[in-house]
Amino acid sequence: MAQLIVRVVTIIIALWATMVQAEPRFSMQPEQLASGIYAVIPPTRELPNPQNRGWNSNSAFVVTGNGVLVVDTGSSTEIGEALKTAIAGVTDQPVRWILNTHAHGDHWLGNAAFEDSVENIYATQSVIDQIRAQGENWVANFKRLTGGATGNSRIVPPDTAIDSRQELQAGNKTIVLFPSGDSHSPGDLLLWLPDDRVLISGDVIYSDRMPSTNNSNLQQWIKLLPKLEQLQPEAVIPGHGNVTDMRGIERLHELLTSLWQAVEEGYNTGLAAYETVPLVRDRLTDFAETYPGMDEKLPRDVPRVYLQVEAATF
Ligand SMILES: [Zn+2]
Repeated sequence: MAQLIVRVVTIIIALWATMVQAEPRFSMQPEQLASGIYAVIPPTRELPNPQNRGWNSNSAFVVTGNGVLVVDTGSSTEIGEALKTAIAGVTDQPVRWILNTHAHGDHWLGNAAFEDSVENIYATQSVIDQIRAQGENWVANFKRLTGGATGNSRIVPPDTAIDSRQELQAGNKTIVLFPSGDSHSPGDLLLWLPDDRVLISGDVIYSDRMPSTNNSNLQQWIKLLPKLEQLQPEAVIPGHGNVTDMRGIERLHELLTSLWQAVEEGYNTGLAAYETVPLVRDRLTDFAETYPGMDEKLPRDVPRVYLQVEAATF
């Protein structure tokens, strides 16, 4: 009898295990934009939380004929593993290169998942230094925000610095890497595929979610966006939000210019930083629908922009 019970319990456990396996935590569906170029877009864009388990940022990958280049690997090793599985569903070429667009943890904490095959992890030197210095903080911070879901991601920092515009040939793809000049965050790097006219921008572009500006150089960012428009991309894979195009860049340019002007208005009329928040909210009303998350971000971001406006006056 005891043996029978053990057997039944073993079968139940085995069945449960297959069910759990059959239901992956992240259902990643690569979206093909051009030959060999894919975007992986999560269903939510909020900050990492227990519901999204940290999956809140976009990844992209390029199948080159001689290996795969992955751009940004998500907020945890587990998310990196899910991305790896999604890529394997599209190609049997190994992931040979990673590019981390910037140092925010939702763009590189999945690197460890690709350690068995990756040869170079590209980023700017500034980003490499930031990840080395603050990597553990990102792990702890995301673990707290997600109620433990992102776990103890192992830090695998980028190892190959790109600090000026560089053209690489990977398989059949020409890949142009260029720094943003520290716009969304210090050391942002963008990727341009000239033959397919696809721009992979990291958080320099947010298409339909209020951008985080608290780590930005907003003036530089506003200056950069028209230059990206000049590339005339047919598709833009942003850091957060749906795939967009020229219109997404133009719209963001208008939003960031309006943000700067509203903070400047508050500063010039003698308002304190915290008093400027409601003024900015009012001036950005028309953008609120396109860029959700504004209410949550403005109280944190406006005081930082206010300091930049103040510094620009002297
Ligand atoms: Zn970011």
